[in-house]
Amino acid sequence: MTCSSCGGMGEISTPCNTCSGDGRVRKTKRISLKVPAGVDSGSRLRVWSEGNAGRRGGPPGDLFVVI
Ligand SMILES: [Zn+2]
Repeated sequence: MTCSSCGGMGEISTPCNTCSGDGRVRKTKRISLKVPAGVDSGSRLRVWSEGNAGRRGGPPGDLFVVI
């Protein structure tokens, strides 16, 4: 997710201590997911905007779930 200390900018005046200047912090998140009928093992589901936060406050990427 986006670092809340620096708002994703990676720095306040010096590089942000919380995210070391990356603008992102690692955090566990639980989401629920509907798996469509007929999905085989090994196929991938794409979950829009549930991936890693973008650098420097950019939009999040997509999450890929391997069944
Ligand atoms: Zn930060």
